[in-house]
Amino acid sequence: MNNHCCETMKDQVNIKCKIHANPFDCPDILITYDKKFDEYGLIIHDGGSSSIEITYCPWF
Ligand SMILES: [Zn+2]
Ligand SMILES: [Zn+2]
Repeated sequence: MNNHCCETMKDQVNIKCKIHANPFDCPDILITYDKKFDEYGLIIHDGGSSSIEITYCPWF
């Protein structure tokens, strides 16, 4: 079920932080992946839970 575009993307969406349960709180996590909508989001670390939907691969 891992149909990510490349290894880098796959690694990014699979990062699990031991300190921050919520990825939006973690400065090391850059990308969220929404399985339901098959959407990638770039996390904006502004203290909230905003993300920008990305429709392209930033590492490609
Ligand atoms: Zn990619
Ligand atoms: Zn963290």
